Amino acid sequence: ASKKLHKPHIFLPHLVASLEVEETYIMIKPDGVQRGLIGEVISRFEKKGFKLKGLKLFQCPQELAQEHYKDLQSKPFFPKLINYITSGPVVCMAWEGIGVVASARKLIGVTNPLNAEPGTIRGDLAVQTGRNVVHGSDSPENGKREIALWFKEGELCEWTPVLEPWLTE
Ligand code: ADP
Repeated sequence: ASKKLHKPHIFLPHLVASLEVEETYIMIKPDGVQRGLIGEVISRFEKKGFKLKGLKLFQCPQELAQEHYKDLQSKPFFPKLINYITSGPVVCMAWEGIGVVASARKLIGVTNPLNAEPGTIRGDLAVQTGRNVVHGSDSPENGKREIALWFKEGELCEWTPVLEPWLTE
């Protein structure tokens, strides 16, 4: 059982934030919703200064969960992962900002919450990989792909927050 706990804690090059305006798909998983952590998680992205473009509470169907996690299809934990993600409502979010993809991954922390740094969402709020509260896209390409997968046309808002000049030059 101890083998399961250790995925090495490595910062991959794509975790270095870019200077481009990007979009990322962030999802509060069913455990985060059940544990009453919706406000806590949203608040961290809001306070950081990213722009929320889409937000909904949603019961994810099996097929969508399978499509979203299709790169993990061959993993032994795949069926468990699909059960977990479809076990209750999730909160789907699209966030925009400079370097938001890598920055959001840093705010979230590494996959195994026991290895995640204090101060990160997983580091502060979770203990197990199979219940790690939140998802964040791992590349700008996947950010676009996942937002298109989880949101329909008309569900995203283009808007300019009045605070924008106080957050970016
Ligand atoms: P991340 O969500 O940090 O990008 P991965 O893409 O590697 O991580 O995995 C996707 C999700 O699959 C994880 O967040 C977690 O919910 C689940 N998962 C990954 N590895 C395991 C595992 N060994 N056992 C159970 N669930 C896992």
